[in-house]
Amino acid sequence: MDYVSTRGSIQPANFRSVVLSGLASDGGLYVPNSLPHFDSEDIANWSWLPFDELALRVISPFVGGEIESAVLKSMLKDCYQRFDHRAVAPLQQIGPNEWVLQLHHGPTQASKDFAAQLQSRLVAHFLTLPDRAIVIGATNGDTGLAAVEAFKDVANVEVVALYPRDGVPADRLAGLKASSSGHVRLIEVDGSFDDCQTLVSRVLRAWPLDDVIPISFNSTNWVGVLAQIVFFFHSALQLGGGIRPVGFSIPGASFAEIYACFIAQKMGLAINQVIVSTNTNDALHRFINQNSYSTREVSHSLSPSMDFSLFSNLERFIWELYDRDGRTVQHLMANFEDSGKLSIGNKQWLQARMLFDSYAVADDQVREELLTIFKEAGTAVDPQTATGALAARLHRRSIASPMVTLAQLAPSKSSQLLAELGVWNGDVAATPTLSVDHVVLSEGDIDGLTHFLQGV
Ligand SMILES: *Cc1c(COP(=O)(O)O)cnc(C)c1O
Repeated sequence: MDYVSTRGSIQPANFRSVVLSGLASDGGLYVPNSLPHFDSEDIANWSWLPFDELALRVISPFVGGEIESAVLKSMLKDCYQRFDHRAVAPLQQIGPNEWVLQLHHGPTQASKDFAAQLQSRLVAHFLTLPDRAIVIGATNGDTGLAAVEAFKDVANVEVVALYPRDGVPADRLAGLKASSSGHVRLIEVDGSFDDCQTLVSRVLRAWPLDDVIPISFNSTNWVGVLAQIVFFFHSALQLGGGIRPVGFSIPGASFAEIYACFIAQKMGLAINQVIVSTNTNDALHRFINQNSYSTREVSHSLSPSMDFSLFSNLERFIWELYDRDGRTVQHLMANFEDSGKLSIGNKQWLQARMLFDSYAVADDQVREELLTIFKEAGTAVDPQTATGALAARLHRRSIASPMVTLAQLAPSKSSQLLAELGVWNGDVAATPTLSVDHVVLSEGDIDGLTHFLQGV
């Protein structure tokens, strides 16, 4: 399988170079040059498969023979064995035809484990020693932790995670610090998550180390998207054998899952609606609802992993909407990087609206929804999941189709809040304080970051 850049000016690359990459050399994101398409009979034939076998069917065409099938198969088996539920991603019913897809049974109890576990195995497979790599990215806590966990035993790989000074809740920061060992460097940025993301993109575009390969751990790296496409096939097969259309409600904690869902539909899966939920940081809602996307100051909410406004995978989505026209994407993104604003053509926006709806959920609505789900379905969910569940109930187009809300984080990660609301019966995690060596950079300090990387 060949990969190209969303900005249209690179030679096609193979899967290996996409795995071992940050951004494409023209500053765009790698995207597959063509998508595999499955007939509904093919998909229906997969309904008996366990998660790892299904993942093999979905992922193989994107690898395009660069890894022997038996090797890929055992890699995937090994990944999902690390999850603590036999179904890997179990579905839980919370209402009439309303479901929650639990994506938090991995080693760090976050959906990012799916991407990180696969990515670390692919990097270990393709990295030829003595080559070294730095796996780098921005995090509000969850992705960084998943990357640290996944790469802890991979030789010749260091993890560098940038996090915003005020963006990461104390317990998640403590978790990140506690899991860090010699191969992990943490950089605290005096700024927001968006500032961290911007620094990472800039350093990936002007990578200062000739002898070290940069790899992004956020789903700017294609593997992050690839791992998540499987979620939608899995859900649709469990709930309707791949024949009955399914709707999804996706909390906007990155655009990668949303884009992955869109891709799953293009690959032939029967998906009849996608609802994107945000908290009061509503950049994605304004994009989908009004075709007006802009970055802005973020405020803190009950769902801190959604407290940002810069969504790198929007670029891949826009590239698809513009029929893979790299020149137009290049133009739109250059304009966006200057002005912080982006609108797409009316035709492209209407096409997106055929499938997509969105809703912004305020913190008091989240509290209420957490109580409602606990009272009416007897279960606790994470606040981020609550935004999705509420958006799903208010905006679903069909009551005949199953509506699946993605639960990206385990409720235990928010045990303090859930206990305060009286919807938590388990242990409440105490907040440990830990001091671990970390570097502090100010927002926009690209020279400081470059200098730091030269010393890794
Ligand atoms: C996951 C992800 C985020 C959010 O990061 P967290 O550390 O989970 O808060 C942001 N951007 C991209 C591209 C991601 O993949």
